[in-house]
Amino acid sequence: MGVRMGESLGQARTGAIVLAGGKGKRMNSKVQKQYLMLAGKPLIVYSLEAFEQSPVDEIVLVAGEGEKDYVRRNILEPGRFQKITAVVEGGKERYHSVYAGLQALKSCDYVLIHDGARPLVSNEIICRTIRGAMDYKACAAGVPVKDTIKEADDSGFTSKTLDRGRLWQIQTPQAFAYPLIREAYDWIMERESRQIGITDDAMVLESYGGCPVRLVEGSYTNLKVTTPEDMVVAGALLERDVTKMPEMSGRF
Ligand code: C5P
Repeated sequence: MGVRMGESLGQARTGAIVLAGGKGKRMNSKVQKQYLMLAGKPLIVYSLEAFEQSPVDEIVLVAGEGEKDYVRRNILEPGRFQKITAVVEGGKERYHSVYAGLQALKSCDYVLIHDGARPLVSNEIICRTIRGAMDYKACAAGVPVKDTIKEADDSGFTSKTLDRGRLWQIQTPQAFAYPLIREAYDWIMERESRQIGITDDAMVLESYGGCPVRLVEGSYTNLKVTTPEDMVVAGALLERDVTKMPEMSGRF
């Protein structure tokens, strides 16, 4: 069973880190992708609204270097987001930005970490990851891959076909017991050599060890806006309000 909107989480306090500190180089646009207009609103606003309307208690927004004022002026209209307690600057890599967010959260028992570039996150997925963190201490939203995935060699030839039945495409939110993910991040930040190629938070915990990460159902519509054609797809899905359609929110 998931946690429903408005449902009490008991005494547990839940925080969310929404990441918008990336440069979005693959978008080839002058404006950072998280601030591009999508179906009438800046892209980042969709994730902030989803968390604002979810059972989380507190939201920390991680903006890019030098972007805090821009965000305050252009994104956070007064009174719009009651749950945002801090806007902080991120760092060079995604994990630097996450670490800044972890340090800025007031006090919480559970934390959800979300790519602001995924505007189609639904309340169902948020609630499923909160429940996953409560039950397993660590979880990540994901979906089984649909395509065959192969490894390539350096010359552009296939070297291996991976077993599709065991492959998942990992999304966000990823949710954790706060002390556990904080400990794992403290540990990895002290070890520069281990930081190479970290692309998500589950990976930090996998390196640290001690707690397996549970997979919970994400959604095929919970896509990450990365390249220009993603804007077209995400825009079409947002116009149809797919996050409100139960059949689009997992259950495969
Ligand atoms: O680069 P990637 O697609 O993995 O980015 C995922 C999310 O992490 C995006 O929302 C992006 O804004 C954020 N990010 C960040 N700080 C960075 C790099 C990425 O907050 N240095």
